Parts: sequence; structure tokens; C-alpha cells
Amino acid sequence: MFSSSRFTIQKKCCIFAKKSIMNDKLLNRFLRYVSINTQSNPDSKNVPSTPSQLAFAKMLADELRNIGLENVSVDKHGIVMGFVASNTEKEVPAIGFIAHLDTSPAACGKCNPQIINQYDGKDIIIDKANNILLDTKTYPELLQYIGQTIIHTDGSSLLGADDKAGIAEIITAMEYIVNHPEIPHGKIAVAFTPDEEIGTGIDYFDVEKFGTKYAYTLDGGQLGELEYENFNAAKATIHIEGIDIHPGDAKGKMINSQLIAMELEAMLPKNEKPELTSGYEGFFLLTDIQGNIEKTQMEYLIREHDTAKFEAKKQFIQNTAQQLQENYPLANINCTVTDQYRNMREKIEEVFFIISIAEKAMIEADIIPMKVPIRGGTDGAKLSFKGLPCPNLFTGGHNFHGKREFIVLESMEKASQTIVNIIKEFGKSLTVYASALPAGMYLYTLVVDNQIIDTKRMILTK
Ligand SMILES: [Zn+2]
Repeated sequence: MFSSSRFTIQKKCCIFAKKSIMNDKLLNRFLRYVSINTQSNPDSKNVPSTPSQLAFAKMLADELRNIGLENVSVDKHGIVMGFVASNTEKEVPAIGFIAHLDTSPAACGKCNPQIINQYDGKDIIIDKANNILLDTKTYPELLQYIGQTIIHTDGSSLLGADDKAGIAEIITAMEYIVNHPEIPHGKIAVAFTPDEEIGTGIDYFDVEKFGTKYAYTLDGGQLGELEYENFNAAKATIHIEGIDIHPGDAKGKMINSQLIAMELEAMLPKNEKPELTSGYEGFFLLTDIQGNIEKTQMEYLIREHDTAKFEAKKQFIQNTAQQLQENYPLANINCTVTDQYRNMREKIEEVFFIISIAEKAMIEADIIPMKVPIRGGTDGAKLSFKGLPCPNLFTGGHNFHGKREFIVLESMEKASQTIVNIIKEFGKSLTVYASALPAGMYLYTLVVDNQIIDTKRMILTK
């Protein structure tokens, strides 16, 4: 079913030729989507957290129907699903693609996008009056896009490439697949989900209805990003109760809870802070501290890719609180650690061929895959633990969640190409020559990259 031959890097002509109709369609879709404000709202108790997400979901559903997807639905939470039926008699696994339809609450979500054709490599002035610019000294990655098409904001909002680029790329790839029935493929499922940015929408995702064993989210950054590792995450809440008394009579009696809090922070590893770590290095982050002499409350985030190190970090903060309790027996120190999300890597490792397929699909599209650990969480991580292993692919965007967000049209085109190539790769079928075998019942197992993907029964009659 899948070829496990070595991957070779070779120049191939793009399936979407430069300045193609496909390119125009991607651009038009993207510009339309980012002009609609679908910002999520962390203060809302509803899913979707804003009514505009539901309206956008219905618009996307109509668009999927118009290009020929089947069984398109929008549920009450604004989750859009649509399907392309298998067009081959052969047994080919179903595959899914997912993007989120909200934008971050960090900045205004209604964008007036600006386009630079054939970028010349100079600093990009976004908003002169407010001194918002993309200078090549701070953002040297711009220089790799000389001659390409850059889309940025007018400085009043974020762009919304996160994740409307993912939506535009998936829909454009689906249109290509529907219009090219000569490409054999299995069932393809597509979903667009609300409230990713506030971490609530994916809880309502119906994995069974989606009906695939694996999927990819399109929610990554620059060209070539392929992500299947994210942080293990927990939060720690520490309550410290001291003893307040008139300072004149305090000797031997006062216990200042704020000073114990400061001691606790000082006992944590000094170099394990977000501003001092990168890559696979984890951290403790004090996100909130409020207190007076009598009572202090601290909130920490604990982040680590490696599970053993993660457990050790959780234990460390608890031991530290315990140690302080022993040092101050008249104080009352309470530390509660709560898990938030887990690293999807262990779930992806069980089906690692989906990473190999994504790498192959990128190389076929002339892209060098970059496997990078996510220093955060994704919807894909939650889906992986709901039974749908779900690595993340690039969209082509940079500087998400702010006014300096930008995207490169040529990278978006490569993302659509990668989706099509993944579908082609999954669609490759295996032929079994059974004429030399005696009649009987056989069990055959598909093994790719030393992993068992599926076992089927075959009855051979003569
Ligand atoms: Zn996103």
C-alpha cells in the first residue's frame, strides 16, 4: 500500500504551476476569509465562543458543497465536516485534514490585508504612524522570500493566517482532487473547528463521525514545518497562609506569606524559564502571584516534552512546597498540580508511517521537511489522545497572533501541494499475486517502516 523505498530529493515541476489558476484561487479564498472577524472569546462559556464563528462555519460548509464534497454538515458548535468518497475499488485507508476557523483573541480579527508582489527584500512598513514594521534585521527570515508574494496586515489587526491559511489550503487541495478523478484515493475527510485558540472547540470533535484513523492539522508556521511533538503541560497552584500581626509585636510571631512565596520561586531552577529556554528545554513559569502578609497565591505553568522530566518537574515543585512547610511549621502551604495536556509523540510513534508519508509528500513538492518540537499544545495533541493521531503541517505563515503576522502565497501553494501528495501517497495500492498459493484462508499484514498498519483476511479460491 505504501512504498517504503528511500526518499530522493529531485526537482519536479509543480502540480500547481506558478501564477496558476490554483494560485489565484488560494489567494482569493484567503483574502475573503481574513476579512471576516472570527476572533474567539476566552470569557465566553459557549462553544463557539463568538456567533461569527458559526456564520463562518456555515459559509465554509456551502463552499465545500459547491466544490463537490459529500455529507457536509455543521453542528451546533460550529464544527464543519465534509467528505470525498473513495474512487478506487482497492482498500485504501481514509485520511483527514483539519484546520481551525477562529483567530486569536490577542489582536483584532478583522483584517484589511495588504499584498506585496515580488517582494524586494527591503523592510516592510506596515503602519508608519504607529511605527509598526517588519524589518529584515529583526525578521531575517523575510529575505528567503525575495521575489515572492507576501501578504501582511495594515497594522490594525492580526492577519488570521493562523488558521485561515490552513482552511484555504485544504479547500483548494480538495477542489484539485475532486477535479482530478484520475488520482486514485481512499475516503478523504475534512473538518474545520472553532475555538482552537482558547482550547475548547476540539472537545466536541466527533472522531467516529470523522471516520479516519489518522489526520493532519494544517496549523503550523513556515514552509516545511512538520510537528508531532508538543509539550506535556501542567499547572501548579500554591496557597500559602502565614500569620499577620502588628509589626511592633511581630518578633518571633509574624510569618509573611509573601516572603515564603519569594523563597519558593528562588528554590526553582534558575535557568528553567521560558525566556532562557528553547527546543526541547522545559520550564516553570510564574504566571500570577497575589498576596499580602497573611495569604499569598501563586500560579505556575510546568512544561516539558520528555515525560520522565515532566513528572520530575511536577514532583520538584511539590517537594519544594513540602520543604518550605517543614521550614515554617506554623505556616500552611498547599501545592496542587493539575495536568493540562500531553505530548502527542507517544500516540504518533504508534503510527509513525504518517510522518514518513508527510515527509515524502513534502520532498515530492520540492520542500525540505523540518521536524520541530512545538513549544506549546495543539488541537492535534488533544485529538491524538481522543484516538485520532494528528501531526501538524506548515501553512506558510509567520508571527502568529500579532499585527506583524504575514504569510507567503508561494508557501501556501506548497501546503496545498503537500495535501494532494499525501492523498496520492495514501492512495498507492498494493497488488498481491496469489496465483501460486493454494486455496484457503490467509491473514495478511501491512507493514510499513517496521510498523504494523493493518491486518486483513483473504479467502483464496481456485
Ligand atoms: Zn492556529
